[in-house]
Amino acid sequence: MAADVGSGSVVPANRGRRPTVDDEKLVFETTKGVEPIMSFDEMGIKDGLLRGIYQYGFEKPSAIQQRAVLPIIQGRDVIAQAQSGTGKTSMIALTVCQMVDTSSREVQALILSPTRELATQTEKVILAIGDYISIQAHACIGGKSVGEDIRKLEYGVHVVSGTPGRVCDMIKRLTLRTRAIKLLVLDESDEMLSRGFKDQIYDVYRYLPPELQVVLISATLPNEILEITSKFMTDPVRILVKRDELTLEGIKQFFVAVEREEWKFDTLCDLYDTLTITQAVIFCNTKKKVDWLTEKMRSNNFTVSAMHGDMPQKERDAIMAEFRSGTTRVLITTDVWARGLDVQQVSLVINYDLPNNRELYIHRIGRSGRFGRKGVAINFVKSDDIKILRDIEQYYSTQIDEMPMNVADLI
Ligand code: ADP
Ligand code: MG
Repeated sequence: MAADVGSGSVVPANRGRRPTVDDEKLVFETTKGVEPIMSFDEMGIKDGLLRGIYQYGFEKPSAIQQRAVLPIIQGRDVIAQAQSGTGKTSMIALTVCQMVDTSSREVQALILSPTRELATQTEKVILAIGDYISIQAHACIGGKSVGEDIRKLEYGVHVVSGTPGRVCDMIKRLTLRTRAIKLLVLDESDEMLSRGFKDQIYDVYRYLPPELQVVLISATLPNEILEITSKFMTDPVRILVKRDELTLEGIKQFFVAVEREEWKFDTLCDLYDTLTITQAVIFCNTKKKVDWLTEKMRSNNFTVSAMHGDMPQKERDAIMAEFRSGTTRVLITTDVWARGLDVQQVSLVINYDLPNNRELYIHRIGRSGRFGRKGVAINFVKSDDIKILRDIEQYYSTQIDEMPMNVADLI
């Protein structure tokens, strides 16, 4: 059944050490002067917020938090890259909480994210850690009632976490007033500045005050993105990761070779018990394929849930809620789920189809192995896909071996 792909990996095993989330000696490429700060206590964070951070369960800042929190709260423009699941988005939440003046009712920080679910997740983290400082945050996203947005924004919030389309709409209606916004954060910033979003981002940007602070965050920051940052950032502090340090030791990567597309389905069925050990996310490249695979799994009596961007937002919300609570364990989805979403119980990711670019590969497999947890990624590859996988392996100097029989033991 397996196509002949040769044995082992073309890239020698990376024997260099791989980072853990709070590794003090981690190799970042940083602007001169960036020094890690080892505890939240030493960051000059206001008391109520500090309480919120500890209450939320954070004891010690992660490597990226050690380095990027201070320059952000000092008002510098910052470009911050770190491995998936190492606390970047949480860092956005804590820095905006630190920076807003809660005695005012004006929007002071705007966070833009590529998906509605991610914008909502970020809003929730802000509300949780900012509970003791009475932070008011609002998720301003498509697919929700415009009336509710208007009500919330007129009432007054300190932070808006949104998707570009709805945010722009609210700005143009003059419902979202921008005059007090001092901080713009682009989470998943390489995606936000890529073709699909760039125009919308610039559309928002031109309504923001000129002395704006800009913070860019992502696990992947390709050169073509770094090159355009000088257009809207001033002398940014850069905290970057070399691409051969980007995959995490904790996420084991494998492939299963199949000769024909049809055989992927049987492979998935064989893996079903493994999928349900904790929780799993299965990626397909199109919405149509998600629907097809979901139907086919269900008609073979497997329990799966599915989510993609053509579903009504109510349904997306319900599916997210069930998956987050652990009520459902196997989620079949598209790249709408590739970036940012944090469900700690996910320990297995399946690429039923290989992603269309190298960045998406990092983001997809990063849905598992959150904050130092163990993860496994399994790539289904047809014979002509093997070249693509080997290219990914080489590009990140990582290792993707043939899936062993005992893969369930690694979860
Ligand atoms: P990223 O944006 O880098 O992918 P997230 O901010 O989504 O990472 O965080 C991943 C997980 O790690 C979340 O569940 C978050 O609550 C947790 N986390 C973040 N920072 C810390 C910390 N300092 N201590 C403990 N857990 C943390
Ligand atoms: Mg994130």
